This record gives sequence, C-alpha cells and structure tokens, in this order.
Amino acid sequence: MYYVDVILPLPLRTLFTYGVADNIGRKLTAGCRALVPFGKKDKGYTAIVVSVHNRKPAGYQVKNILDCPDEKPVFTPLQMELLSWISSYYMAPLGDVVKCMLPSLLRGGDDNPAQYKPKYVQFLRLAGNAFSQTSLSGLTAKQLALLDCYKELSGYNANGVEMAQISKKALLERALCSDVPLNALLERQILEYYRVQVGRIPEYNGELMSPKELSVAQNRAKESIEEAFRARKVCLLHGATASGKTEIYIHLIKNVIQSGGQALFMLPEIALTIQIMKRLQVVFGDDMIVYHSAMSQNERVEVWNRQLGNNPYKVVVGPRSALMLPYSNLKLVVVDEEHDSSYKQSDSSPRYNGRDCAVWLAKKCGADVLLGSATPCIESYYNALSGKYSLVELEGRYSNIEPPRVEVADMYQLHRKKIIKGYFAPVLLLEIQKALESGRQAIIFQNRRGYTPVLMCKDCGWTAECDNCSTTLTYHKSESKLSCHYCSGSYPIPQCCPKCGSGSFTVKGLGTERIQEQLEQLFPNAGVARLDLDSANTVAQYNAVLHSFHEREFQILVGTQMVTKGLDFDGVSVVGIMQGQNLGAKVDFRASERAYQLMVQVAGRAGRKDRRGTVVLQTTQPDDPIVQHVVNNDYKGFYRQIIQERKDLSYPPFCRLVEILVKHRNAGTATSGANRLADKLRTGLGCNVLGPELPAIDRIGMLNIRRILVKIEGTLSVSGVKEFVCNSADSLQEQPYYAGLQIVFNVDP
Ligand code: ADP
Ligand code: ZN
Ligand code: ZN
Repeated sequence: MYYVDVILPLPLRTLFTYGVADNIGRKLTAGCRALVPFGKKDKGYTAIVVSVHNRKPAGYQVKNILDCPDEKPVFTPLQMELLSWISSYYMAPLGDVVKCMLPSLLRGGDDNPAQYKPKYVQFLRLAGNAFSQTSLSGLTAKQLALLDCYKELSGYNANGVEMAQISKKALLERALCSDVPLNALLERQILEYYRVQVGRIPEYNGELMSPKELSVAQNRAKESIEEAFRARKVCLLHGATASGKTEIYIHLIKNVIQSGGQALFMLPEIALTIQIMKRLQVVFGDDMIVYHSAMSQNERVEVWNRQLGNNPYKVVVGPRSALMLPYSNLKLVVVDEEHDSSYKQSDSSPRYNGRDCAVWLAKKCGADVLLGSATPCIESYYNALSGKYSLVELEGRYSNIEPPRVEVADMYQLHRKKIIKGYFAPVLLLEIQKALESGRQAIIFQNRRGYTPVLMCKDCGWTAECDNCSTTLTYHKSESKLSCHYCSGSYPIPQCCPKCGSGSFTVKGLGTERIQEQLEQLFPNAGVARLDLDSANTVAQYNAVLHSFHEREFQILVGTQMVTKGLDFDGVSVVGIMQGQNLGAKVDFRASERAYQLMVQVAGRAGRKDRRGTVVLQTTQPDDPIVQHVVNNDYKGFYRQIIQERKDLSYPPFCRLVEILVKHRNAGTATSGANRLADKLRTGLGCNVLGPELPAIDRIGMLNIRRILVKIEGTLSVSGVKEFVCNSADSLQEQPYYAGLQIVFNVDP
C-alpha cells in the first residue's frame, strides 16, 4: 500500500493523506491529479499529489484515492515549488493557489464537473466501396463527376492514399454541386467522414518581420543589460516612455529563443496593451502565444498541455497569470511596466504580485529577469541603487523628440479670479484648438478615483449610497442608473429625495461622461469618444475605440487609467490631465507614487514621434512637489522625496507589510475580533502592529471591515512573523463566537 499527500482545491492550509493501491501508487508522482473523497458526504475532488510514500498515518482511518486520470503530472516540479512558495510567502491556502494556477477545465471533480473538450473537424476520404468496380458501375454521371473531383482535390493516385485533407465544404465548392450526390456517395460507402482533433488556437497568418535595427543608445543599453545578466543580476531598465524599450525587449527575446530557450513577456493588463502584443506577434509569429483573459477555458487547457509537451511555445506573452504556465526551459522573463499595480492580485486569494513572483521563478530556474518602466516602482529603484539589482538607463526618446512640454494650470486661482466657469483651463482649450486645426489629436485624462459623479439632492444634500457598502453610488447618465463600484449593485434613479422629498437633484463630481459631453459642446466639429470601464468593458469594444482613434475617425479621446497605458499614436499632440491631484499618503502609502506614475504615463502619450507634444496639467496644487516632479520630468527628484517619506514613516522598502482584514456581518463582532487579534499580535510579536482601524470603505457587500497593519522591520524573521500571524488568526477563529469571522491576509499590499 502506498500513501499520497495531496492538496485539495479548497481554502485549506494543510495537506491530506490518502491510500492508493500499489500498482497505481508506483506510477504516481508529485504534480499528478488524483480524485479523492472528502467531507462528510465523500464528495469527489480533484487534488494535486505532493508526495508518495509508505508511511501509514496513525490515528485515523485513511480513505483511498478514487481515480488517477494522469499518466504524466500536470504540474512540473518547478511549478510545484512555485505553488508552495506562493502559498507560504503570500499566506494563502495551498488549495487557493492550485485553483489560481490550474485551468478550471483541468480541475474536474464533483465541485467542478466541466471538462476539457477536444475540438474535432470532419474530413472526407475514400471508403471501402470506392475500390469495387460493381459499386462504381451503378453511379450516376453527377456522382461520378463528384468522385473524380474528390480524387483530383485530394491528390489521390491509384497506388497511394489521399494526399490532402478535404472538407465537405471544399469539395462541394470545387465541384459546384449540392449535397445530393455527396449524400449518395456516403450512403453507398464510396466516401466516408473521418475526424481529426485540432487545436483551437488560431494560427498567425499575418506578415513576419525581423526586429528593427537598434539605435546606438538602444544597443548600448542592450549590452549593459546583457552584462547584468552575466553577473546573474536582476536588471531594471529605466527609460522614458517612447525611449524604445520594447524594441530592446524584442531583441533580447529573439536571442533567447534562437539559442533554444523560452521567454516570458509580462504585461500589466493584456487588454490595454494590444499594440505591443501586435509588435511582438509580427516578429515571433506562431512561436508566440498570448495568454489572455478573453481566452476560453478550452483554449487555456490547450496552451497548458502544449507547454507540458515536446513542442512548447517559445514566447509567452501575458498578464500575471502567464507565469503560472508550465515552462521547461525558461531563460528570460521581461516584466514591462513593472511599477503597475495591476501586477498585484488584490481582490482574491492568493494575493500575489506577478512581478515579484516572476523574479522568484526566474531565480529558481536560472532565467534572466528584466524589469522595465519609465516610472519604476520605489522598491525596484531602491534595489537598483543599493546594488541588489543592476540599473540601466535609456535616456531620451527614440526619435530624439524632446519630452512633452508640461503647462500647469492653477485651477484654484482660475476659479477664484473667475477666469473660468467650467472644467477647462483656457490654455487646455487653446491647445486642443491648435491640435484640431493642424489635423492632430488630443487625449484627455481623468483619474476616476475619488471623482466619480454622484447624485445629490439640491435641497438637503442627500447623496445616494449603496445598501451593502459604505460608499456613495456613481451616477451613470447615459444608462440612467446608479451603480456601486464595489459590489456592482445597480439602482434606479430616485424620483424624489428619500430624505426630504424634494424632486431636484444635481450631479457632483466630474466623470469622463461629463467631460465628453462638455467637449462635444465646445468643439462641435470634432469627434469625441470615451474610453473607460463603462464605455469599453470588453476587449473588442476597447480595440474598436482605439482602432478608430488610430484611423483618426475622431480627434479627442477622453478616458480613465485606460488611456495611460501602452498607447502609441503618432497623431496625438496634446494630453490634458483634468485633475492632477496628489491625494497623498493619507489615503494609502503608495498614493503619491501612483499619482506621479499615472501623470507621467499619460503625459508620455503626447508627441511620440515627429514633433514635441504638449501636456496641460490642471491642478489645484501647483506647488505640490509631486506635481513639480511631473512638470520637470524629474524621476530622481520624485524618488528622493518618496524614499525619504518612506524612511521617516517606516514603510517599504524599509520594512515589510502584512495587511490583515477582519470581516464580519456584524460590526461589533468585526471590531472585537480585530481588537483581540491585534492585541495578540502586539504581545506575541516584536514588531509594530497598527490598528485595527476603519478602512476608507469600511463595509463592502454587507461585510464590515477592520484593518490591521503589521510592519516587519529590521532583522526580524519574516516567515516567523507570518507563521505567528496565521496561527493567531486560526486560534481566534477556533473560538465559537469568532468562527464566522473572515480573516484576509495581504502580504506586500
Ligand atoms: P517604449 O517601449 O520605451 O515606450 P517603444 O519601443 O514603443 O518605446 O518606441 C517608441 C517608438 O519608436 C515606437 O513607435 C517604435 O516603433 C519606435 N522605435 C523604437 N526603436 C526603434 C528602432 N530601433 N527602429 C525604428 N523604430 C523604433
Ligand atoms: Zn433632499
Ligand atoms: Zn455596494
């Protein structure tokens, strides 16, 4: 008898042991799937085998495995290590990590019955009676003609077999005939259908091109990167937007695959980076796969299986989930826009950061890592300056165009002096006007956070709030509804104020929809389109808007964060930032960093190729240092400011953070549970424990939330602290009164 330790696809931290008969146990290895009974009803779950051994567990009746579907493991040894590292580093149950890694159609089990379905196509071939004279002699002229046509098409010759795969459609099109003679041939068993399993991933039919020749500066940067790689260091490439980083990535990837290795190219959000993907596809064609969110579950399985086989894709392009695929010979990982917060999965477990996992994975398998950004994240730049990473700087823009000129419009003064009434500074309107007159385009950016339009009663000031969350609802004029951006709840617009009965409402806050409306009035001859989660919530819609902007079908593009990423349009000469505010560290210790990064990224969309662009930065805080760093295009100044703040207040990179969210339907239980946990951590840990406090949104989807922040400083063992936190939470939840608490850990928030 063998025993196997397995991970169940459930949010559980421990392994479970099952028995398995000798003949199967001998074949099982780590990474195989096993169908196992679990729970009171012995439901079948697909678990992942971690180890196979002969040690009979003592003290309980061991159940047996029900089935083993795999000849070969579905997880490579490297993936098994990644799995357990993510689980322990991010304090996530092993089962959550398995569910996050493995495509759901490979998971099976009673809880997840859908299965991968291979795709087949049908072709025609000659059947037995095609070779019998008696059968052939009974055919009509039409049927004979069709048979001849088939032989000709398929390249059949008397001694050979069919050379080509002929579909029904191809045959009937060539023979110019209906189904009738074909059905007769099928009935007489002169022709028959056979099916072939095919892949669902479409082949690349576009043109292929070699990478562009690098400029002197690009070549120099590339050589420095290679030198860093030889020294076995992670390399941070700091280069302004449009400095030509992507071209360098392409060259490095090309080199890797020419010497037989695999490359992983990570992007923050695949939907927002269609242009970059296309540039890679043109070079790598069918050697490359884009592992994206719009992919079907069946397609995911096909990519997964191909990566496990002998002919894996050489280049994988994708968001953070792409690092979860099997790799057999990974030699290079490129993390583009490495500062982007989308790399962090923050809304579900495991709350991992794709960039940091990629660095771990690459180190584990001896691959090189290149992090690239125009606005590197503070921690990465700190690592580069302290010598942990190698720093390579790519100065200027590829085309030698100067970076855009930034004009600051002091909105507070403009309003106070009654120079403007609306939302736009005169200089912004002037620049848009100039752009339109010279056949150019403009991008207008509105940071959504904090500025969503809110419905307010004119008489008593009542604002609409979500029933389940402690947030105000967002007003959507075009669909005439109110919606909650936290729980996605949707509400009709009230006829009259529920508080005072008045029927007159006003809209507070400046959303993209309103900006679009105003611009349409101000520039009636220009086309104005909008790009945000409401106007483009599918990849196809997003692409359609960008495509027509590229074709210059409209001149002004208004949008949220969606317009800040990866767009490379020659026609854009003006970028307007509607509210360039620094929300500051009060909101979140990364708020200033994010504000800076967003503004620089969107500014980078102006004047990329043939002439210098202009950015108009509207703000009520013209003297704020963050705004000044944007104006002066001064990353280093920005870095010095933030790193000092982080040092003074002890935030990363000067400590490690574990955020703990304690949730319960009952506010009192949430508070007392959080207090207990915080007390326990304070007494048991030699580190700084902040809170519990109310987060900015303290109720989401009926759950009350309390927040505790653990700061791990100095030489304290990070894993020791995490273990203590986990155990403390577990023992709290063992008390019946607190059994209903949800406790969420977020490492490196
Ligand atoms: P980044 O990735 O730093 O934003 P890109 O690689 O997108 O910069 O380069 C900006 C623009 O310059 C792109 O339109 C790109 O096609 C062009 N470009 C960059 N390098 C070259 C090169 N070596 N030859 C020709 N065009 C280039
Ligand atoms: Zn009212
Ligand atoms: Zn809500």
